[in-house]
Amino acid sequence: MRAVGVPASDVRRRIAEEMKDDVSWDRVLNSICTEPHPLGVEMAAAAAHTNLGDVRIFRGTKRIERKVVELLLSFLGNADGSGNLVSGGTEANLIAMLVARESARARGRLTARPEVVVSSTVHFSFDKIFAVLGLSAVVVPVDEAMRLPADEVARRINDNTVAVVATAGSSEFGVVDPVDEIGARIRAHEVHLHVDAATGGFIIPFARDLGHDLPQFDFSVDGVDSITIDPHKYGLVNVPAGAILFREGEGAERFSFDSFFIGTPVHNTFLGTRPGSAAVATYAVLENLGRSGFTQITRANYETTGYLTTRLKEKGFELLMEPQLNIVAVKVAHAALISQRLESWGWIVSTSRRFVETIRLVVTRHVTRDVVDEFVPVLDLARHE
Ligand code: PLP
Repeated sequence: MRAVGVPASDVRRRIAEEMKDDVSWDRVLNSICTEPHPLGVEMAAAAAHTNLGDVRIFRGTKRIERKVVELLLSFLGNADGSGNLVSGGTEANLIAMLVARESARARGRLTARPEVVVSSTVHFSFDKIFAVLGLSAVVVPVDEAMRLPADEVARRINDNTVAVVATAGSSEFGVVDPVDEIGARIRAHEVHLHVDAATGGFIIPFARDLGHDLPQFDFSVDGVDSITIDPHKYGLVNVPAGAILFREGEGAERFSFDSFFIGTPVHNTFLGTRPGSAAVATYAVLENLGRSGFTQITRANYETTGYLTTRLKEKGFELLMEPQLNIVAVKVAHAALISQRLESWGWIVSTSRRFVETIRLVVTRHVTRDVVDEFVPVLDLARHE
């Protein structure tokens, strides 16, 4: 650390200088985060001093967090449930798995080798989570449509199973597992059904309103016990804003830890000191956009996705599958090389480690028709270089 600090103007200049190197949104086609909603940013700045780890001080901010949880619960079909705001999808999934394991223990069903049934396309956050919690993954290969097959899930359940994870919007392809079928097939078993809707939570409900044929994934599906949903992805809120929601009113309390201090309420999240700014920003964005605002944004994303796929096909590209959400998987030989080439030309896309001949393009708010018009010829050039 410096012995004597430098003036604020100097600090600002240096930070701006470094951040100039960050890629501008109009060259980013790999990110499910986007330029955050300005009202969220403004309100987060206003709440920069708040800490939801100390709710005796930040009572008003805590009330806002509860309002957000209530909004999200009723949005996902279960006003009587419970939940908390967390740092993102990884923390939400971690809490869900811990609650699943502890529920099995409470019912006297926890064996020495607890297992969780997941699909082969489940998000890699679960690798971290299983390592931390001592859970073993039972990996079910996805079917030809890249979905977790309900019958196979049911077949893999045994005495060790504490949970099943379905994904509503896979990270690589935006595929929605048949949560309704999975719920129906495993209902007879006493296992926790968790839905990771970190990607799809802020798309699927609006897309369904617009008539897209997507499986239902929320608490209206029998058997769904918990849901991860991430305002900081398609919810347009600035990072870090995630949420974990439970069907049961006491679900969130299953993960509950006392502080050292008398009178300090229990913590129900991993983070102790945590940003009230995230709760405030999420509240601001949800209230300001409402269902109609999100539906409009979703409609625009689907329209741009359709435009992108048309332009790609015109250039002779093939898709790995027709997109369910606004994530497009394009078949490209030597995809990793092409992706590196694009990066050296200033464009960011992603390539799956597992589906190596595919480039994944995410269409979110900052990906406009103009961006598509610039990008498609560049992708075409990159494969012919
Ligand atoms: N689950 C899914 C389906 C995701 O797509 C992601 C991130 O992209 C996560 C979980 C992890 O979320 P986070 O990066 O917010 O921890």
